[in-house]
Amino acid sequence: MGNFDLNNMAAADKAAAQQAFEKSLKEADIIPCEECENTTYNSVVVVKRISSLASPTGEEMIVPVQTFQCTSCNHINKKFDV
Ligand SMILES: [Zn+2]
Repeated sequence: MGNFDLNNMAAADKAAAQQAFEKSLKEADIIPCEECENTTYNSVVVVKRISSLASPTGEEMIVPVQTFQCTSCNHINKKFDV
């Protein structure tokens, strides 16, 4: 998923970037489910655990990560894997 960072742009540039993004979005491909070709998803959260050894703070971290699950067969596409 592309996130535009619009914070550092002038207002006119922002508007142009927003328009370009909306045009791109209209023409963008819809990603079908790998298993059943359904094209709608539920937003779900995978919860990951970073061990104290791998954590930047030295303490275990529980981190929720949003992904998308097929509304038809509950499959999560490889592309959405987290
Ligand atoms: Zn599916």
